[in-house]
Amino acid sequence: MSLPSSSARSLEMRSLSASMPTDERMLSMPSADGVVSASWSRSQTLLRTATAAPRFAGVSRAASARRFISLKSLFAPSPKGDGGVSGGSGQQRLLVKSDDLFHPLSKSPIKEMREKGLLIQEHGSCPTCVSETSSSGTAATREPMFECPDCGYPTHCSETHWVSDKQHHAEHCGYLREANEDEHDLRSGRTLREFEFPSAQLPEVVVNLSDWDTFLYTRSFTNVESDRSMRHVSKVLTYPITMGAVLHQYSPFALGAGLTPEGLKSLTALRTTIKEHELARSEKELEMQVTPLRVFVLGARAEAMLPPHLYLQLSYLLPHSPINIYFVGPECIPSPDETRSTIAVSSRLALKYHKGYFHDAIWNFAPFDPYTDIFFMFSPGIAHPRGRDGWRPTVEKLLETKCAVFATGFHEKDMLSDVKALEDDFAGKMDWLLQPQPNPFASLKRDFGIRNLREWAIANWGIYGFRGKRYEVQGKKS
Ligand SMILES: [Zn+2]
Ligand SMILES: [Zn+2]
Repeated sequence: MSLPSSSARSLEMRSLSASMPTDERMLSMPSADGVVSASWSRSQTLLRTATAAPRFAGVSRAASARRFISLKSLFAPSPKGDGGVSGGSGQQRLLVKSDDLFHPLSKSPIKEMREKGLLIQEHGSCPTCVSETSSSGTAATREPMFECPDCGYPTHCSETHWVSDKQHHAEHCGYLREANEDEHDLRSGRTLREFEFPSAQLPEVVVNLSDWDTFLYTRSFTNVESDRSMRHVSKVLTYPITMGAVLHQYSPFALGAGLTPEGLKSLTALRTTIKEHELARSEKELEMQVTPLRVFVLGARAEAMLPPHLYLQLSYLLPHSPINIYFVGPECIPSPDETRSTIAVSSRLALKYHKGYFHDAIWNFAPFDPYTDIFFMFSPGIAHPRGRDGWRPTVEKLLETKCAVFATGFHEKDMLSDVKALEDDFAGKMDWLLQPQPNPFASLKRDFGIRNLREWAIANWGIYGFRGKRYEVQGKKS
């Protein structure tokens, strides 16, 4: 499947049913390196983003180098022009066989992988050189031209430097090897059946939200049959399912598991509304009396660019609730096709896009109600020196709404530094709803930075929650 460039900016949306849409849908998105495109079809998935840009416009490239979760996991192979393995079923040509996924990047049968290797050579640096430079102040830092035979990534300037760094590299080598094979698999040309998702939940089956295994099993994701498939799927579903796991009555975030009494109050308020949706006896009654849940995703980037039907997986967890998801942020494109600000994905789910800072646009969304409104910030990087000033006015407004806010981090250090920044900037003004903890619905995939293969990130690795402090009013009765 090749992507005609003329259609790279179009995205066809329709109300989506059960499985993967039969039509090809494409979306284009701005990124640090220009417009990249994505498509989604029955058998193939393509979602290209360049290294994720920082959450705030105007951030230097140095700052942008830090945040690198990208949704580059979903790729279609380019069947033309690559000397690949021929054969395979279906119309797609199989470029890589599933029992032969490992290839050193420079020798990969897939062009994109070879290009990735070149990018790392260009932008990366040899860690042995770097440590020698910093200790002696004299040696020059060389580019990583030597490919580790075990993971296939260009990791060091030479075999000698690779050997002397072997102990450190061993911490990452296995994960890099896994990433190598995963990325070849996604681009292999095979039919990616794991992305054929189930539709509405059977009423008699209770969803178990303990972890990915039980979730996928009780939601009948029958095509996710291997750890590799699970990693692929988790990387995109981490966004809607993390939201669902917070809101759902069988949430894994409970008292005794990090949820504070204040957190329980906030979630109970939201679940009261969800219960009301359930109790509305007819569509008409629902329309007449019910306010939809409003889920705000602030600092939205990649999350806003996911194919909209993915968010139906949140809808299926709260099947009676009308849900509006608002993607807000300076880097949020108006919608995947850059023209519409609202996409009705189903009769119960709408996605809305607002490009701009939440604190500047707050009047578009006010008033706020803790019973219907919840905020998510996916790996916001609040503590990052350049991000902090951008986030401060937003968080100030968030605290005023008294609505629940849940945020995630790439790894423990990332999460805890954001938590500390919040504590430093808003001491006494906020209540913790959920203590920082690993997220059972984190992506199962490790992403590595092109500039530094020793830096890794996991989308939504950890999660925590907070909201503006409520002061008990001690006024006298009049
Ligand atoms: Zn070196
Ligand atoms: Zn290695």
